[in-house]
Amino acid sequence: MVQEAYHSQNPYHNALHAADVTQAMYCYLQEPQLFESLTSCDILLGLLAAATHDLDHPGVNQTFLIKSSHHLALLYQNSSVLENHHWKFAVSLMRESGLLSHLSNADRQSLEERLGSLILATDISRQNEYLIEFRAHLDRADLHLNNSQDRHFILQMALKCADICNPCRPWHLSKLWSHKITEEFFSQGDIERRRNLDLSILCDRNTYSVGKIQIGFISFLVEPLFSEWARFSDTPLSHIMISHMTSNKFNWSYPPQENMGETTQSTSSKTLPQGSLGS
Ligand SMILES: [Zn+2]
Repeated sequence: MVQEAYHSQNPYHNALHAADVTQAMYCYLQEPQLFESLTSCDILLGLLAAATHDLDHPGVNQTFLIKSSHHLALLYQNSSVLENHHWKFAVSLMRESGLLSHLSNADRQSLEERLGSLILATDISRQNEYLIEFRAHLDRADLHLNNSQDRHFILQMALKCADICNPCRPWHLSKLWSHKITEEFFSQGDIERRRNLDLSILCDRNTYSVGKIQIGFISFLVEPLFSEWARFSDTPLSHIMISHMTSNKFNWSYPPQENMGETTQSTSSKTLPQGSLGS
């Protein structure tokens, strides 16, 4: 049901992205810092949120939904429009499938609320709020994972990392994801051009390139998030992810000739260790 609720015609936001995020989330949940303290309920919620976090994604962003007066923008009053829809869609699938029907109404409702809080954390426009809180907790060393609120916050951060971890994969995978997301942005730009709407940022194929978008994405969103994640979870996996991210950013900034081909790997990525995120 989850797989069918994704739009297979979206270049990026399809079931494959959901599977990719779920795989990354699974890896993060195995990290010693988390693994020790997670309850079975946390694990279920973490994986469910990862699999459903972009459910029924229309392949265009919130800006487009607002400026085209889409019914979802009206329904959610222009605020975390997509994330609210993904959450509500996930809840309706869970109810339809009876996944949580063995629980009391109060327990089911509380799990649905927690699922919503995880999915809403993937709203990239609110990344700074989460990052500031994460950094403050790490500076004060006051995260206690035996406390359910703190565990929930870390699950939110883990899901945010899983959602944008494409640049932390080895170059040959990262490059494919980069092309897919850019294709989705540019096709939104094409629709906007046809409808005489202002072109959304990053969506103009005449102004942007895959590399230019990736360098900005890594510098402003991925690097700040993963450097804090690596402070929280200082493990071989985090080091491998940071190393891939650094070398991928370098490859986009200074593309060697062999990177121009679709399937060739960069020289630098050949020498990088292949972690579980690279398999
Ligand atoms: Zn996503």
